[in-house]
Amino acid sequence: MLAASIKGKSVIVTGASKGVGKGIARVFAKHGAQVLVVGRDLKAAEAAAKELTDMGHTASGFSADVTKLPEMEKMAKAAVDRYGGVDVLCANAGMFPQVKIEEMSPETWDDVMATNLKGTFLSVKACVPYLKKSGEGRIVITSSITGPVTGFPGWTHYGATKAGQLGFMRTACMELAKYGITVNAVLPGNVMTEGLIELGEAYMKGMAAAVPMGKLGTVDDIGHAALFLASREAGYITGQTIIVDGGQILPESQDAMAQM
Ligand code: NAP
Repeated sequence: MLAASIKGKSVIVTGASKGVGKGIARVFAKHGAQVLVVGRDLKAAEAAAKELTDMGHTASGFSADVTKLPEMEKMAKAAVDRYGGVDVLCANAGMFPQVKIEEMSPETWDDVMATNLKGTFLSVKACVPYLKKSGEGRIVITSSITGPVTGFPGWTHYGATKAGQLGFMRTACMELAKYGITVNAVLPGNVMTEGLIELGEAYMKGMAAAVPMGKLGTVDDIGHAALFLASREAGYITGQTIIVDGGQILPESQDAMAQM
């Protein structure tokens, strides 16, 4: 079975108390991994972990802020203490306040950089000593189509971080290759998270109309791509990206969609 190698692995997912990260954590847990569910709000992280343990899987919550190195170090140590090491880091935590350049404060810019880009670096830095010991360590970064491929008004800062994560990845994978560690990224399109679902069915229908496959992605869709990249079978893939967007980036015009 593909990804059978995930069974028993110690997996950290940052930003796993809700949204995409929660889906990634669920997919790994369902495949037998031991999952550390990380977010700043301990109660939310523990509640998300409990959903997994209630299903008979192995998971626990942990509170840590990806913008703070000491907290990332404690997070990595917690995975070692609870699950015997760190085999997989899913660097997923992110934020995306929508604000156009003219209204954006330098503080907002810095916040988004700190969480999405510096947070990726700090979580990787904290886990590398343990990923080296794993022998087949895996880092899977949640980037986005926004930034590396597409643009969206109000997300200059966000797009810059999501493209920046890929620049980080391409050198990180070279530095870490000699330890058997791979570094890859998943680029989701529009995913049905709790936040999006709250905006209502009409809103989601409008967004789905721009996707050739006619529907939005699920958090499990992103989880399955991350699972593949973390598997033993993907051990010769590093520095690469998988776009998971139902074909969203492909239509070259609205007319192209209309002619489908
Ligand atoms: P979300 O629903 O808002 O969830 C964000 C998660 O990150 C929460 O668990 C949150 O928990 C955690 N988090 C935020 N800041 C953190 C910090 N400083 N330290 C630790 N944890 C933190 O977001 P999402 O939509 O799932 O997005 C998750 C990732 O997917 C992001 O990297 C985003 O760029 C990417 N993505 C999402 C979509 C989409 O359609 N949703 C599309 C493309 C890419 P706490 O608040 O408790 O810390």
